[in-house]
Amino acid sequence: MNFQNPEPEITSLKLNGKEISILRLDLLPTAYNGNKWFKLKYNLEEAVRTGEKRILTFGGAYSNHIYALAAATKEAELTSIGIIRGERIEPLNSTLRFAEECGMELHFINRSEYRRKKDQDFIENLKYKFGDFYLIPEGGSNELGIKGASEILSAVSGYDIICTPVGTGGTLAGLIYGKESLAEVLGFMVVRDKTIQRFVESNSTDESWKLIGDFDFGGYARYNQSLIDFINEFKSDFSIQLDPIYTGKMMFGINQLITDQYFDSKAKILVVHTGGQQGIKGFNERFDHILN
Ligand SMILES: *Cc1c(COP(=O)(O)O)cnc(C)c1O
Repeated sequence: MNFQNPEPEITSLKLNGKEISILRLDLLPTAYNGNKWFKLKYNLEEAVRTGEKRILTFGGAYSNHIYALAAATKEAELTSIGIIRGERIEPLNSTLRFAEECGMELHFINRSEYRRKKDQDFIENLKYKFGDFYLIPEGGSNELGIKGASEILSAVSGYDIICTPVGTGGTLAGLIYGKESLAEVLGFMVVRDKTIQRFVESNSTDESWKLIGDFDFGGYARYNQSLIDFINEFKSDFSIQLDPIYTGKMMFGINQLITDQYFDSKAKILVVHTGGQQGIKGFNERFDHILN
């Protein structure tokens, strides 16, 4: 398996009258693209190094992390177990179908059990049930995940502001670690979770970053028609696919902040397109094909 960092393309365009540059992690040439490529690389390397042949992780039924991990473990010739929140519903949605096709063993647990995903006795129980495994937490946001994410910016320089969506905050922490010292990172929250601020604080190397909570559309995977319209319009204007869970909310927020003249007129803005396009199919299966 090749863990060498790919060199992502940058697309520059004028959004709402302001020039922005987009770091296209969505175009990385593997099924496990986007930020998840970076978050998984050191974890997989560690599993290979320690001789652990099996990876266990957690995720929701439409999770980009589950999708990426299934593809990456297949390529690395490791086996994988995905502990999925909720019931198994047949036919499986496209994310879980793909994961199974990659060889991932899926186990479904209810929401209250799922909340115990970080508890030591719960993990021990899983080991008792499945045998030994290398554990990667939900979203891949452990120390090695953050280390990988710190390399997202390794090929770029000269930007004043870096924008990213925030789920668990691992990618944000990595970007803070990897940025040039004067740059500021803006994290657009896609979920209401008060623990993220502290998580990033405890993993960050300086204070030039900010969480923006105004564009979560009510919480994780919530949306409204104006978000859907924005994503569809953005695609027809720039031929770039945004997803409704992460990158769409971030870009909607950036667009609004430009309207509000939030950014200094000379600020050079880099937007990290963290991928996530695999989720569109499942979203459309669920919500009547509202995305183009
Ligand atoms: C997982 C994911 C994120 C969030 O990353 P965190 O490190 O959990 O904050 C952002 N964008 C996309 C497309 C993702 O799949």
